[in-house]
Amino acid sequence: MDAASFAPVPVDLIVKAPKVLLHDHLDGGLRPQTVIELAAETEYDDLPSTDPDELARWFSEAAFSGSLERYLETFRHTVGVTQTAGALQRVARECAEDLAADGVVYAEVRFAPELHLSRGLTEREVIEHVLLGFAEGQQKAREGGHGIRVGVLLTAMRTATHSRQIAELSVEFRDQGVVGFDIAGAEAGFPPTRHLDAFEYLRRENAHFTIHAGEAFGLPSIWEAIQWCGADRLGHGVRIVDDITVSPDGSVELGRLASYVRDRRIPLEMCPSSNVQTGAAESIDHHPIGLLRRLGFRVTVNTDNRLMSGTSMSHEMSLLSQAFGYGLADMQWFTINAMKSAFIPFDERLSIINQQVKPGYAEVTDELSQRLAQGSV
Ligand SMILES: [Zn+2]
Repeated sequence: MDAASFAPVPVDLIVKAPKVLLHDHLDGGLRPQTVIELAAETEYDDLPSTDPDELARWFSEAAFSGSLERYLETFRHTVGVTQTAGALQRVARECAEDLAADGVVYAEVRFAPELHLSRGLTEREVIEHVLLGFAEGQQKAREGGHGIRVGVLLTAMRTATHSRQIAELSVEFRDQGVVGFDIAGAEAGFPPTRHLDAFEYLRRENAHFTIHAGEAFGLPSIWEAIQWCGADRLGHGVRIVDDITVSPDGSVELGRLASYVRDRRIPLEMCPSSNVQTGAAESIDHHPIGLLRRLGFRVTVNTDNRLMSGTSMSHEMSLLSQAFGYGLADMQWFTINAMKSAFIPFDERLSIINQQVKPGYAEVTDELSQRLAQGSV
């Protein structure tokens, strides 16, 4: 490792560095222009603005407002304009293209089929069109010189009662691009054990799943997700810090649950900007990711909702780099953590690590070394 591994990284090199994304919502990542065009096509006339810049600003202001109602309203619009086969296919295609253009080489993108049925599509049709869109997007990205592989996670809403049915669909489609299952939605009052039947089914089917836990709600939710439901990964898991005591002298003590999460290498899908928006973290500078990375937890960096947070993988990496002084060596560590934690087969994960991630970081590190030597950083 040379100086370039730890030096501040210019944004263009963060974009160029290969990145891996495990937690991204399809309905949270639409292009503002697409929202406007789809609204016109599908005669959805509820949008707060039809100017793309103004609409983008509206989305991020609503998401940063601290009001849950306004935050949820943002999804009412993105879900409202994606009720047709063509709309779903388009947003999936653009999602793959946007991620690839941002240097993401592997992504798992999730969506809830049950939210897209208001114009008569069935859940199977929703899934098929999203998969088609991702296939097209991957093809277009490859043609543009940015290869990306996208795996799909099917989400069930934790406030509803369809989780078993969605879990069965995730198994039915697992050889066609669906790689796992997730539950999302209001955490307080809706513990993961309400959906035990779905998780037990998935385990019997040797299938993978993650659970949104430890975002709005604390340790009991994380504990249930792991010890009752058997989650492979935790969506956010930020509140695991509540089980870690840092003394004024700097010594750190882990409680039993935090120890278990670290010892078992349970991946934490952290989404810094989103965590600040929802109040799960106070600020990027005070985000628990700094402590958890230092303690060697299996931490990954994610976007959650790119439209609402006005973010991208490169932007999240860049924010962390500014807050914690992370260089390319840290970004590679987060990226390899994420790739190790992906739901595709082990040999395929390894091949992305060895053939794309490591050579990609070696290349950008070299480029940064040259810039440092020339004094052009
Ligand atoms: Zn999420």
